[in-house]
Amino acid sequence: MKAAPSAQRLLLDVQAVDTAIAQEEHKRKTLPEHAQIAEGQKIRRSLIEAITAADTVVGDLEAAVAKAEADLVPVKERQARNQKRVDDGAADPKALQAMIDELAHLERRISDLEDAQLDVMERLETATAERAELAAQRAECEKGLRALMTSRDDQVADIDAQLAVEQDKRAALAADVPADLLALYDKIRARAGGVGAARLAGKRCEGCQLEATASALDRYLSAADDDVLRCEECDRILVRNG
Ligand SMILES: [Zn+2]
Repeated sequence: MKAAPSAQRLLLDVQAVDTAIAQEEHKRKTLPEHAQIAEGQKIRRSLIEAITAADTVVGDLEAAVAKAEADLVPVKERQARNQKRVDDGAADPKALQAMIDELAHLERRISDLEDAQLDVMERLETATAERAELAAQRAECEKGLRALMTSRDDQVADIDAQLAVEQDKRAALAADVPADLLALYDKIRARAGGVGAARLAGKRCEGCQLEATASALDRYLSAADDDVLRCEECDRILVRNG
């Protein structure tokens, strides 16, 4: 392929812009915020699951507290009724003794029920506190996530603005490169890690960093100025200094 030396040198400018574009794109893709946000979202999901489970525990204990209160009502009513009859003395001694015995039994029953009530109330208190702690952790996690997302969005916006500038620059430069040379460059760049054209610096190709053999160098230096050279080692377009 033939191309004016100035067009070949222009390729190096296109290459520099393409490298800058690739770096910006890489930076955008590898922002630490991406991984931090994914980790935060994972934590938030597990917190939401834990809160749902805690809601169930609290709900069950609230029902248990209500049941413990309800269980006490008829026993206390019966105790009051019996106590009144004993106080009134409205029974023969045998029946009276039976009622006194039953009162003692009701007393123990009420004590047991009150112990049970206290137990579930304490458990409810603990479960409610645990749920509140989880809710606080979730709020904290979401606050952190919002900050990370803002930071990510700001950086992506900056990078995109920079990319737009570079892409305009690239389009302006590429417009002055002959179409066949640009197509060759793009083809090589796609398969050679983003570098399609490199300078010949002394004996060294700046694309692969290898020094040319004596025979290759001889060929490079004896070629016509408008011959488009290819590095014998990496096959990239090799641009001589003008
Ligand atoms: Zn090379």
